[in-house]
Amino acid sequence: MNLILLGAPGAGKGTQAAILARELNIPTISTGNILRAAVASGSELGKQAKACMETGALVSDEIIIGIIRDRLAQSDCANGYILDGVPRTIAQAEALEVSGIKFDHVISLEISDETIMERMSGRRVCPKCGASYHVVAVPPKKEGICDACGSELITRKDDAPETVKSRLAVYHKETEPLKEFYRSRGVLVPVEDKGSVEATSAAILAALKE
Ligand code: AMP
Repeated sequence: MNLILLGAPGAGKGTQAAILARELNIPTISTGNILRAAVASGSELGKQAKACMETGALVSDEIIIGIIRDRLAQSDCANGYILDGVPRTIAQAEALEVSGIKFDHVISLEISDETIMERMSGRRVCPKCGASYHVVAVPPKKEGICDACGSELITRKDDAPETVKSRLAVYHKETEPLKEFYRSRGVLVPVEDKGSVEATSAAILAALKE
């Protein structure tokens, strides 16, 4: 099963992708996590992406398409995958389509900008494995420590309120048109945020079974 999780920054794509990946036994591919790892390692890719990421702008379609083609060719993607945070522009979606990739469902997480602004201040992420938490909604078992790998959790620089505002503007301009793109292909599944992680994942799983 090939899925895309579409939604604004902070909509809960990463959290829901992790749950779906466990339920469906397929990997999650997050271009944000791949890029953050590249920035941390100081690789050429990381150097190219760093400035865009810090301001909340999008990394070029060319770079993203290269990353995603390489990643989807790996053997763990053979039975399907969940894309988290990609595609983010019509050009990226068209490039995936031209590569012959078809999606069974494109889940669009629907949530207001106001709720996102409130939520983002509590987000914490693991710089090592990319797991994501929230101080109230999804707290780690031990405060400030990643359940999965034991690393110290951090606040993403691009979760600062002003940067979140820019990222939301970029989302509405560049990414939201993808809803129409996938609706016209008959695969869009809009799912309203239900206020808790569990209730939203239950709604997603129910929508996938319809
Ligand atoms: P995310 O973790 O998905 O919010 O991504 C963090 C940042 O990485 C974004 O604000 C962009 O700068 C960059 N990024 C991640 N995925 C993409 C993508 N598909 N297209 C362009 N830029 C991306």
